[in-house]
Amino acid sequence: MKEARYYRKLDNNLVQCTICPRKCVIKPGEAGFCRTRINKNGVLYSLVYGVVSSIAIDPVEKKPLFHFYPGSPTLSISTIGCTFKCPWCQNWHISQVDATKADLSFYDNYAPEDIIEYAKRTESPSISITYNEPIVWLEYSIDLAKLAKANNIKTIFVTNGYASDEVLDEIASNINAANVDIKCFSEETYRKYIKGDLKPVLEFTEYLKKKGVHVETTYLIIPGLNDSPDEIRQYCKWHYEHLGPETPLHFSKFYPQYKYTSALPTPVETLENAWKIAKEEGLYYVYTGNVPGHKYENTYCPECGKEVIRRYGFYITKWNLDEQNRCKFCGAKIHISGEKWKEAPRYWWLI
Ligand code: SF4
Repeated sequence: MKEARYYRKLDNNLVQCTICPRKCVIKPGEAGFCRTRINKNGVLYSLVYGVVSSIAIDPVEKKPLFHFYPGSPTLSISTIGCTFKCPWCQNWHISQVDATKADLSFYDNYAPEDIIEYAKRTESPSISITYNEPIVWLEYSIDLAKLAKANNIKTIFVTNGYASDEVLDEIASNINAANVDIKCFSEETYRKYIKGDLKPVLEFTEYLKKKGVHVETTYLIIPGLNDSPDEIRQYCKWHYEHLGPETPLHFSKFYPQYKYTSALPTPVETLENAWKIAKEEGLYYVYTGNVPGHKYENTYCPECGKEVIRRYGFYITKWNLDEQNRCKFCGAKIHISGEKWKEAPRYWWLI
């Protein structure tokens, strides 16, 4: 247990957590909605500081980040808990754990210094806080990001984007890249299924972009829930207007899991139609995910239309850019942050 950093004390030993837009007011002896923070005698504590549920090396493309140091390995870590309750969560076995009831000794405990040491030992140029929600772990995520910066290591958030206005700057000024999950483009669906709101997610994503963080977004298409062409077009229009045409957008294939097993897997045709809608709306870099080998996993030059990066799943199989990330066919600049990883990654297994 570590005293939380982002909260305020109220009268009668009440506390208010200020991490996510829910801003839970928590009574003594009780926990917030995410079940990772408890009020003990008027002091708010994080139960998950240093609690690590998973640690692995992934290709950065798996986050997915296709335009950030392409081909590089990223040390990926997670804790438990989440600010959302998505019934289709693929990592529900860690995201939906109630930290107030869990046996926390079951998980590893690492100081931020230990994670930096792992990153150096495995020659990972970045650390991703992923699998569950980095914002629910904010004290630890930010301590780690600051230490990473001091060691010339990048920090990536793979996030639901549900951050309060009071922590936006803390996040934006300490991380280098983010993939933000846009669950749908409907407030009603956010409230009904996810128990959250869309507006703060959009504001967070736009804020990161404006502050110079490398941003990509993912939209998991769930049949019957968020797959209408109109909803997808509305999201693409927002994406173009607020993040710019150069910000990559990933449409991901859904597979039934956790509590949401009534829908079938997303047909490939639905993903292809979403890709076409995004292109019609002017986005440069649009991808389909969870369909390895599909041509829409590749990057096409927005100027000449030629294939400049070919991928299979999370791996780059062809690279047609020069040293300045320009198209080898027409010389157009391809929007990529950082250079391609030069070496063959050596540590793809679990630590
Ligand atoms: S992180 Fe969000 S859900 Fe959790 S206690 Fe704080 S305000 Fe509540």
